[in-house]
Amino acid sequence: MTDTPEAGFSKRRDAILTELAAAANPPPVLVAVSKTQPDDALEEALAAGQRIFGENRAQEALSHWGARRERFPDLELHLIGALQSNKAEEAVRLCDVIQTLDRPKLADALAAAITKTGRTPRLLIQVNTGEEPQKAGVSPDGLPDLIAHARGKGLEISGLMCIPPVGEPAGPHFALLAKLARAHNLPILSMGMSADYALAARFGATHVRVGTALFGERT
Ligand SMILES: *Cc1c(COP(=O)(O)O)cnc(C)c1O
Repeated sequence: MTDTPEAGFSKRRDAILTELAAAANPPPVLVAVSKTQPDDALEEALAAGQRIFGENRAQEALSHWGARRERFPDLELHLIGALQSNKAEEAVRLCDVIQTLDRPKLADALAAAITKTGRTPRLLIQVNTGEEPQKAGVSPDGLPDLIAHARGKGLEISGLMCIPPVGEPAGPHFALLAKLARAHNLPILSMGMSADYALAARFGATHVRVGTALFGERT
């Protein structure tokens, strides 16, 4: 392969955008998951025109994007990893979308942080569609109460996010998340990763979160 890394990212991104456009109209938004990526990979992504990024940890999001934000005011940052309540303010200050609200205590902390900072990131609730004990996310049965709790705190919930169990077909999980979103009138659906973004698009994803298929394997 003689591709420069830059051409590599850009080509992979073009191919994914083409697949997404073939799978759904309108296609989902491509969130580039940049966790653990080195600076040169972030710069390649920016050079290719990517502006929407997902990070697992608020701290890494800040080190990756805090200063770059000044060069690229149109950056949009999504927090897609578990958030501790004591990091809620940091996340609210930095992120445009927080995809991982999953418990009442975190809703309380986010509400306090939003009041304090005056910033209003969009909020998604993470649903543990596979009801896996080790996985973050509210159970499908617990979703109505969490939505009610969050709304009671003055939070606007914009949508749902899920990570299907490894080794199971993802389709039924995407279908369940889409059904829950419809039932609660929530417009945003974040689902689909490197292995299944096109499938997620066909199930109605509005956002797909893609790391490896864009950047290559994480080191
Ligand atoms: C790492 C991660 C992704 C991206 O995974 P890939 O398989 O590399 O595309 C998507 N969503 C979440 C929540 C992640 O932690």
